[in-house]
Amino acid sequence: PKTEYEILRRRIYSNILEFFYFINSQVQSELKQSTSEKSFSNFLNLISEFKRSLMKDVLTLADVDGYAEWRHKENDELTNLVQQRLFYLQNPKNCKTAKKLLCDLNKGCGYGCQLHHAVYCLIVAYGTQRTLILKSRGWRYSRPGWESVFLPVSNSCTTPDGISQSAWPGNDNVQVVSLPIIDSLSPRPPYLPLNIPEDLAPKIRRIHGDPIVWWVGQFLKYLLRPQPNTIKMLEQYKQKLGFKKPIVGVHIRRTDKVGTEAAFHRLDEYMLHVEEYYKSLELTQTVTQKRVYIATDEPKIFNEARIKYPDYEVFGDVSIAKSAAVNKRYTDNSLSGIVTDIHLLSLSDYLVCTFSSQVCRVAYEIMNSLEIDAAHKFRSLDDIYYYGGQKARYQEAVLPHIPLKPSEIELQVGDQISVAGNHWDGYSKGMNLRTHQLGLYPTFKVIPKIETAPFPTYPQVPL
Ligand code: GDP
Repeated sequence: PKTEYEILRRRIYSNILEFFYFINSQVQSELKQSTSEKSFSNFLNLISEFKRSLMKDVLTLADVDGYAEWRHKENDELTNLVQQRLFYLQNPKNCKTAKKLLCDLNKGCGYGCQLHHAVYCLIVAYGTQRTLILKSRGWRYSRPGWESVFLPVSNSCTTPDGISQSAWPGNDNVQVVSLPIIDSLSPRPPYLPLNIPEDLAPKIRRIHGDPIVWWVGQFLKYLLRPQPNTIKMLEQYKQKLGFKKPIVGVHIRRTDKVGTEAAFHRLDEYMLHVEEYYKSLELTQTVTQKRVYIATDEPKIFNEARIKYPDYEVFGDVSIAKSAAVNKRYTDNSLSGIVTDIHLLSLSDYLVCTFSSQVCRVAYEIMNSLEIDAAHKFRSLDDIYYYGGQKARYQEAVLPHIPLKPSEIELQVGDQISVAGNHWDGYSKGMNLRTHQLGLYPTFKVIPKIETAPFPTYPQVPL
């Protein structure tokens, strides 16, 4: 099918959501006072039902348009191509002469943040055509290093040795270049998120609603190939739990994050969206048991969830949460817990979490490397999706907007906007690059801009 068709189909889907957010929040704030409690909530329920029905219809389009098989095939082919390119890059014929990029896994942050750091290193390796050497001995999550849980990033080339060394950026004659963390990278190459490679961009855009998420997911797919012991651990855990679908993954990040990098959100704020997910699902299948998988660093949540939501089967492991809370970051025994939690979140049918947390963003990225176009299968209580250290996320106005309130900004068709966030009430906040005005605008009046850069095309790896 045409790219335009795929993009339009997804735009209708997300604009039904935006329309609903808008109506819902307007009604909540303005009509509440003037209407009786009962008729007010009846009205809200009816518009929610309306939204679910419309969304179901748009989703069904993808099943009946005759392209489902094409989407599968295209996604598989593109995935194979990128994985083969990474394999080729990481297994040079002669390690003694191979150009290398040296990266230290031990960034001073949590596991999700370190995974994103490793992804960034592998993306730059791909962009510079240098084999990534991941230094991980003494890793704060596991002293023996990366290979205690995941396969080595190369089968044949893991030593940092070389005849010449240099700090980033080095040059073509230097064999081993060391890469700093993204926060202090200078000069910045064009390969960083949110850029996707020019040669693959048209295909990625057709198969995925948020191409950068697909792209990042590919790097996680390569990096997180599990060791046999890890596979065993995850399988045993799933069996012990009785992990079954349908299931919604809920990540609740508390402790050190709250008040510093994110706001506190009550359990019912998450569960509202879980409920909504099951109500939508009930339009297409009978749901005999509602399930949630809860990953959290707040052990008390499990009891709270079981008491307040008796109609749910609540999965999760309080001892993992305890170890996450007590060993807050940087210790060996919290590693299996966080690996397990992220894995099960990524296997869920839908994710409810705060995208301010790297734990949930990683789970979402992995989910998108396992399923075709899972771009819409989440609800974040705070941020829109982003990649730490990224360039700004840009949108383009496709409809003009005349401000209705002082908090709003003007849009002309074609304006570029650097987006700060979605307020999930029909409005987003951002800076219009033409007028330099910062403020609110209706989200449906813009489309995301997909940024591309000329990455190497690996002609050695057959299509
Ligand atoms: P962020 O701080 O939430 O953006 O994510 P990071 O991954 O960088 O750091 C948070 C760390 O806290 C994780 O890596 C875990 O070690 C721990 N943690 C946070 N949430 C969870 C959770 O749901 N489960 C487990 N097992 N650990 C968690």
